[in-house]
Amino acid sequence: MRVVLINPYEIGRQPFGLAEPATMLIEAGCKVDCVDLSIQRLNHDLLANAELVGIYVAMHTATCIAVEALPRIREIAPGAHICVYGLYAPMNEALLRSLGVDTILGGEFEPGLLSVVDRLRSGSGAVQTESVINLSRVPFLVPDRSQLPGLSQYAHLIMPDGAQKTAGFIEGSRGCKHLCRHCPIVPVYEGKFRIVPRDVIAADIRNQVNAGAEHISFGDPDFLNGPSHALKVVRALHKEFPRVTYDATIKITHILQNQDLLPELKNTGCLFITSAVESVDDRILGYLDKGHTTDDFVTAVQALRKVGVALAPTFVPFTPWTTILGYIDLLQQVVDLQLVESVPPVQLSIRLLVPNGSYLLKLPDFWKQVEEFDAATLGYPWRHQDPRVDKLQKAVQACVVEAEQEGRSRSETFTAIWRLAHRALGRSVPVLTRDYLGARIPRLSEPWYCCAEPTSQQLVSF
Ligand code: SF4
Repeated sequence: MRVVLINPYEIGRQPFGLAEPATMLIEAGCKVDCVDLSIQRLNHDLLANAELVGIYVAMHTATCIAVEALPRIREIAPGAHICVYGLYAPMNEALLRSLGVDTILGGEFEPGLLSVVDRLRSGSGAVQTESVINLSRVPFLVPDRSQLPGLSQYAHLIMPDGAQKTAGFIEGSRGCKHLCRHCPIVPVYEGKFRIVPRDVIAADIRNQVNAGAEHISFGDPDFLNGPSHALKVVRALHKEFPRVTYDATIKITHILQNQDLLPELKNTGCLFITSAVESVDDRILGYLDKGHTTDDFVTAVQALRKVGVALAPTFVPFTPWTTILGYIDLLQQVVDLQLVESVPPVQLSIRLLVPNGSYLLKLPDFWKQVEEFDAATLGYPWRHQDPRVDKLQKAVQACVVEAEQEGRSRSETFTAIWRLAHRALGRSVPVLTRDYLGARIPRLSEPWYCCAEPTSQQLVSF
């Protein structure tokens, strides 16, 4: 069977979600081709001959691109069975089916993909028989990444002195044991997480180091959901490749609960930790059910500084509960903690996304704050009761986009946002001195975020 697997976008990562199922489908006797739309264009010849097209949607932006690309894919491959798989597939099932998608697979999608192949081979029908969400444990295979563009074409590590290193990308687990209300993982995994076996991770790391990776970015939703698994992974990484560094995503409460592990993370090569801080307003943190407070965030910054690991906080600054004063408080906290150089500017523009199935919809009366589901943005739109907040969000977003196009530094962009926020409140703008900006930290050339609309550039690849 001829299969084409397509990755619309995954924040500059070489996708495990293509390489690993491709290996599995090849073992099952399929001829598999991979296309990464973040780097390549749709290959019409491949698609025209495909019997099965799998589109991997690991994030909101990828799903928006998939929705745009689907009519074109249908046109080029009218006879192919189309399967959309990955975290964002189940929550957008109705929309995707309306666009001609035959099979939707979420959670641990590998057995479902194999079952689709069996179903098509046996001619037992195009109608989906597989569960839309599968959380059973699957036997992961070592991904064969040779069909994907080389690592040098993906996001790279930028050191504080400007030096650049090739980055590899590893998924060591899927899902999460926490139930943060705004998190898109929660409606699918509902507090469960699944681990990729250590020997598979070690082999995947080895293959990527051999392909040039000098740094490994762990894409686990939370690296310390299973601390002993994580420690064994990084000990093995450091033992085999002592010069290879890494980064991971860890929630604030896990940083605090595992402070005794932080020196070992540092000693095994951890350069920085991304953490979803989201807000510095404890009331909003409560609505999001993050399990941490603003004080916890401050303590986590101090704990990581003590061991010499940088923190890259991420935020959801614009919510229905945000006030302009609260937004200025967030900027002030970033300044006070000397984190200006640690925060990718896009993080200061993010607007709360309410996807289908979001646990936010379980909050009493939250329904009253949102409008009908919008297929264009794949979410329930909301308008702030204070129009100045929405206006500020749009201005900050435009400022960030312009800064990216113009190649402005994080501190220049932050200063512009600082000005916008104070002016939105009709306040004079306090002067920021360089002392408060903080040191540059290692970072990836494409910052982490989970929800932004695709750019026109991302939509030209088909
Ligand atoms: S936001 Fe992070 S900690 Fe919370 S459920 Fe999602 S992945 Fe887990």
